[in-house]
Amino acid sequence: SANRVRSFATTIFTEINNLAEQHQALNLGQGKPDFDTPPDIVQHVVQALESGHLNQYAPGFGTPALCQAVADHAARFYQMDIDPRRGVVVTSGATEGLLASILGLVDPGDEVIVIEPFYDSYVPDIIMANAVPVYVPLHPPTWTIDPDELRAAFNKKTRALLLNTPHNPSGRVLTYEELSLIAQLCIEHDVLVIADEVYEHLTFDNKKHIPIASLPGMFERTVTVSSAGKLFSATGWKIGWVYGHPDLITGVWRAHQFITFSVHHPTQEAIAYALNLPDTYYQGLQTMYTAKRDLLLSSLTACGLKCAVPEGTYFVMADYRDVFEGTPVEFTRYLIEQVGVACIPPESFYSAEHASIAQGLVRFAFCKTDPVLEAVKERLSKLN
Ligand code: PMP
Ligand code: GLN
Repeated sequence: SANRVRSFATTIFTEINNLAEQHQALNLGQGKPDFDTPPDIVQHVVQALESGHLNQYAPGFGTPALCQAVADHAARFYQMDIDPRRGVVVTSGATEGLLASILGLVDPGDEVIVIEPFYDSYVPDIIMANAVPVYVPLHPPTWTIDPDELRAAFNKKTRALLLNTPHNPSGRVLTYEELSLIAQLCIEHDVLVIADEVYEHLTFDNKKHIPIASLPGMFERTVTVSSAGKLFSATGWKIGWVYGHPDLITGVWRAHQFITFSVHHPTQEAIAYALNLPDTYYQGLQTMYTAKRDLLLSSLTACGLKCAVPEGTYFVMADYRDVFEGTPVEFTRYLIEQVGVACIPPESFYSAEHASIAQGLVRFAFCKTDPVLEAVKERLSKLN
């Protein structure tokens, strides 16, 4: 391997999927729904495939219908004014959107602030851009930023901050006050924000997702990344997008041209349809996930795990220290092999310097059918 990638191990998701399969464990590891995409959305892909004119390269930015739908969605939910022709790039999932944003906006040697725990592709992306990650942890059990630690991370070399809200894996939805502090520091130090908002519609109990791009002075320094995978339970389609000010999107697009050029054409038509679904679709998603969250929380707390109630996403972090002594990797192994339930040990979401913050914690995903969540409850009852 090249030096650039030599430190990249097999992702924790692949490792846990393999182990879960080997032991036939119920898999609450990777954030992957075990139920299907809504049938009307699937039907739109089928129609697009059969229409006879969408099976060749799509335009590099994305199809006009999808770019327009991304702009309309941002106007409908966040009153943001996005230029559908110059302010949107459709990518192969949020994963490519993040890479294209970093390669397109960050120079070698620049520093990028990463909030921990982080989605596991951020740091490899920064390394592949020859940039330098600088870490700022969220502190459990409240999963909040220490303002002094955040302030200390900024300096003349800081080019960008990677922000994820609603936050995987903590389930936090950052408040206006928290976002304001980040915004104020980014403005003061002339820093860009790459905002990963893939869980933008997965919020609970009247918590509202606030895009940092909507704060005063932030639109011109933010690119926002989202994904059809989470919004439409279609993680296998790998359609995502990046939107924002055309001056920044130009950088993202330049990189995207030479990563994938364009992405799967027929699926883009179906996602354009889906993004335009009425508000009731998005409300239904929240209702469905609120019930799943509550079901899993009751199973976890009944067997002695302590959880911070997720405000958003489909993940929950659980503290197992009252029922098990050992590292998160050891607990995960025990749970998969002896109890038959798979979760994710969160060390890969941390830098080495802060990995100890994850001690005693594991992540469970609740994007699963109710019978599976009920079966998990049954198996977990063996824990005590
Ligand atoms: N960001 C976060 C925070 C995620 O949790 C995920 C996927 N689980 C992604 C990005 C990647 O999204 P996609 O599958 O669209 O590439
Ligand atoms: N985002 C998903 C998660 O956090 C995993 C996606 C992946 O496997 N790359 O579970």
